Amino acid sequence: MGVVIGVPFLLTGSRCEIAHNAIVFHNYPLAKRAFVLGNVILSPHTDLNRAVMTYECAACAKRRLPLPQVRTVHLGKHEEAHTWQYQVLGPLFLPVYLVTLLLPSPTPFERAADHYAHSGEGWWPWHLAASYRRRR
Ligand SMILES: [Zn+2]
Repeated sequence: MGVVIGVPFLLTGSRCEIAHNAIVFHNYPLAKRAFVLGNVILSPHTDLNRAVMTYECAACAKRRLPLPQVRTVHLGKHEEAHTWQYQVLGPLFLPVYLVTLLLPSPTPFERAADHYAHSGEGWWPWHLAASYRRRR
């Protein structure tokens, strides 16, 4: 599905490459921010090699809470984590992700993607939760 909605925009200036465990469409005009569909990343940016604010930082800023220590992560690594999450859940990823939007921000998927982008491990949300419990 990601390829089907990405390929037509190669004719209008989008660029395609294989990176971050995905087919990446850069300069994708219908997205305001990068998003993942399976092993396809659709991004409005010219490349994914950029720092973005973590979801936790955005949530803290929104609630006027003290900002966390890790405030930015690599966008490409963040989106890559979602491709691994997709590989586990397949077509169930999107409905499960949408349900987690009912939880306080950031969702477990976004928190895990930020963690993976920062540390290179822990892209699966519930493994991350288990490792947090072990530390306590
Ligand atoms: Zn994300």
